[in-house]
Amino acid sequence: METVGRLCQTPIPEQQIVKAFHRSAVKPAAILLLILFSSIAPIRATEIKIWEEFSGEKALAHVQRLVDLGPPPAGSDAIEKARDYIEAQLRHSGWQVTRQAFTDDTPRGKIHFVNLIARFSGDAHPTSPSLLLCSHYDTKLFDTIRFVGANDGGSSTGLLLELARVLGQHPSEARRVELAFFDGEEAYENFSGTDGLYGSRYFAKQLQGEGAKPFPGGILFDMVGDRSLGITLPPNSPSALAHDLFAAAEALKLRKYFSYLDRDLIDDHAPLNAIGVPTIDIIDFDYPWWHTADDTMDKISAQSLQIVGSVALYYLVEFGLKR
Ligand SMILES: [Zn+2]
Repeated sequence: METVGRLCQTPIPEQQIVKAFHRSAVKPAAILLLILFSSIAPIRATEIKIWEEFSGEKALAHVQRLVDLGPPPAGSDAIEKARDYIEAQLRHSGWQVTRQAFTDDTPRGKIHFVNLIARFSGDAHPTSPSLLLCSHYDTKLFDTIRFVGANDGGSSTGLLLELARVLGQHPSEARRVELAFFDGEEAYENFSGTDGLYGSRYFAKQLQGEGAKPFPGGILFDMVGDRSLGITLPPNSPSALAHDLFAAAEALKLRKYFSYLDRDLIDDHAPLNAIGVPTIDIIDFDYPWWHTADDTMDKISAQSLQIVGSVALYYLVEFGLKR
């Protein structure tokens, strides 16, 4: 009370009043800037919502292009065109592509297979990737029907190409990922130790043979475009991965699209899990047109690809690449 009384009683020269005004005007401005910068900086560093950059429409457009090339079973002319397309798209997004070619015995004789493996370019100090993202891009060979595999072969390939585009905009994330497009997932007769999973078996064998540090984790995508989406993880999925994937779906309010299948499944994740790369299979196996001539573009949707793509990206930045 005393101080106020004194201030009121002491006349303040005009110059001093102006200075005092300037000082007090500068201070709030500086504080405001400080607040602005301190709130922007963490957003730029950790809060980039990379999952919002995924376009289901773009993924679907890739599937359409692949389907337009005609059915691509292993060893066909169409699959060679599919390879060229995938490779060109990956390069366009900044990835370096290696062709892992091999020949294997099949019930139809010797077949030439090619896996496409992509790492992010321009890295002077390559680190070992933390995550393997994969899909098969061959379709099952049928003698009696024209099988284009819009969902089975096409959808996951289109999705992986769109993931590659988004990751390509974020080099620090992209460098920690390897992409694999497997050939020869489909069996000629029945899945066995020697029929089916040709590409992933070969990839796993090479990885093991190189003695390289295996990936800490992997995600396989297969049949992810069903209009009526219901991802059904095989019950033998690595539980930590499944837990984090469900949490990612929950965070994006998309949890209802993810559940467990009631039985185990043979797919490209099996050879990877067998060599100690815990790999989850993101698959919607409840698909009435599976391995029929009706597995066509009209059965899949951009929205379903959007759901899977955004959950996968959320999982990547908030879980998989944080480990
Ligand atoms: Zn299939």
